[in-house]
Amino acid sequence: MKKSAIIIGAGYGGMALANLLAKSGYTVTVIEKNAQSGGRIAAVKQNGYTFDIGPSWYLMPEVFEQYYQIFGELAHTRLDLVRFKPGYRVYFEHDDPLTIQGDIEHDRHTFEAIERGAGEKLERYVQKSSLVYELSVKYFLYNNFQRARDILRWPIIRNAPRMVRLVTQNLDTYVSKSFRDRRLRQLLEYHMVFLGSSPFQAPAIYTLMSHLDFKSGVFYPRAGMVSLADDMKALGDEFGICYVFNADVQEIIVKKGEAVGVRLGDDTELRADVIVSGADLHHTETTLLAKPHQSFDEKYWSARQPGPGALLVSVGVKGTLPSLEHHNLFFVDKWRENFRAIYEDKIIPKDASVYVCNPTKTDPTLAPEGHENLFFLVPIPAGVSLDENEQAQLADTAISTFSAAASIPDLAERIVEKNIFGPQDFADRYNAWEYNAFGGESHLLSQSIMFRTPNKSKKVKNLYYVGAGSLPGIGLPMCLISAQLTYKKITNNRAAGPLKKEDM
Ligand SMILES: Cc1cc2nc3c(=O)[nH]c(=O)nc-3n(C[C@H](O)[C@H](O)[C@H](O)COP(=O)(O)OP(=O)(O)OC[C@H]3O[C@@H](n4cnc5c(N)ncnc54)[C@H](O)[C@@H]3O)c2cc1C
Repeated sequence: MKKSAIIIGAGYGGMALANLLAKSGYTVTVIEKNAQSGGRIAAVKQNGYTFDIGPSWYLMPEVFEQYYQIFGELAHTRLDLVRFKPGYRVYFEHDDPLTIQGDIEHDRHTFEAIERGAGEKLERYVQKSSLVYELSVKYFLYNNFQRARDILRWPIIRNAPRMVRLVTQNLDTYVSKSFRDRRLRQLLEYHMVFLGSSPFQAPAIYTLMSHLDFKSGVFYPRAGMVSLADDMKALGDEFGICYVFNADVQEIIVKKGEAVGVRLGDDTELRADVIVSGADLHHTETTLLAKPHQSFDEKYWSARQPGPGALLVSVGVKGTLPSLEHHNLFFVDKWRENFRAIYEDKIIPKDASVYVCNPTKTDPTLAPEGHENLFFLVPIPAGVSLDENEQAQLADTAISTFSAAASIPDLAERIVEKNIFGPQDFADRYNAWEYNAFGGESHLLSQSIMFRTPNKSKKVKNLYYVGAGSLPGIGLPMCLISAQLTYKKITNNRAAGPLKKEDM
């Protein structure tokens, strides 16, 4: 008889796993509390605008390719990828903006113009980042850490001293050894925000992100980020996955130490051989499981650090914004203080770095004709909720600071539409742990690779986890890897490495 699986949550991780299980012959039901699939990949439609309230960077393109290959498909054609040239622009408080091409041949000159010798240093830095990226993807990310021999491989042993150095110092210390200028250091460290962490706390192994910026390049799906979620669902269509929307799982039913089904808000009970949760793990463990079945209880979570919260401010702007790129970043001078406020002091930073996306640069249909669409992401500490006034104030500050840095003095006056998505919205919409924005724990060393919360319950048989909260971590490519790791756990495939067609 066909085996069956229930997946809680139609986020990117849950859907990616649903496809793998369904392809291999499972009968799969995905149960989602909201009205649509995609989870944190989401958009809001408002008076002719489509405002993204989720991810906007398409990182690690080869991870998408590898996942799609399992289905005999090509990600770059299905998702209609475009490479941004330039990749993005960075604005500063008191310095001229810098434009990063995503091409080392060009970007080395940008570095050299700021600091003598920095061009050559960048080349060497990125070469090392690329090596670390390759080793990490190959030996650490696609790994459930079930067999020592999967890590004790010659390339890792040969590079062991380097890897040890990279995990025993933080990213900022590592970067500062080669670059003095604050702006250059910021360019090599800012990615930590995407991994829900701080360069002053996260291990230097995350230097690997610079490989993406300067070697791999910056790509984007022409139809927008929501098309990633739509295509993930479409990829599984032929396998007959059943999606149930507007259905809130209230409880994972456990009988004799084994997960046997879920109970929904209307008291319906659904049964399956395997239960997987793609919801935030804190919610899954502390709300959906009765206390005796919790492997990771409140005490466990109180010792873990969530990724940051975020205030998302989407605005419709009259007229054009020719000076902006699709991706724009604004970095404050008080870089360290900014991270310290968010991750250590847990207060809203006075001067906040922000990310500003201008998606109408790539897809003008996201705004009415003659208008642009801007989306501000302001990272804030996890666990901090904001009332409407505080949100409005923080939004105004982000807009005015950015408009000054980007020399668009009339930006605020040209705003004709606004949507604010704050911490409480993350909690209400996704059952987010401590209002976190990205779906899981930050990438401290103690919460990375083999130290991350695992993808299988320690107490309940047949209960598994998938998505940003579990191995290997936050972000869409990580969700694709997570789906493969959980699939391997379910099918008792202990080998490390990407899943191949033959494994199915
Ligand atoms: C503003 C923002 C910007 C980001 N930027 C980037 C980026 O540029 N690039 C990148 O790669 N990543 C980015 N990320 C991170 C990335 O979007 C997430 O890590 C990823 O989408 C998480 O997917 P997931 O499947 O693990 O979880 P989710 O997307 O949260 O999916 C979990 C699903 O479970 C559902 N659920 C929860 N509880 C229940 C329940 N009890 N019953 C039923 N369903 C339930 C939720 O509604 C949700 O749909 C960003 C995220 C945000 C919010």
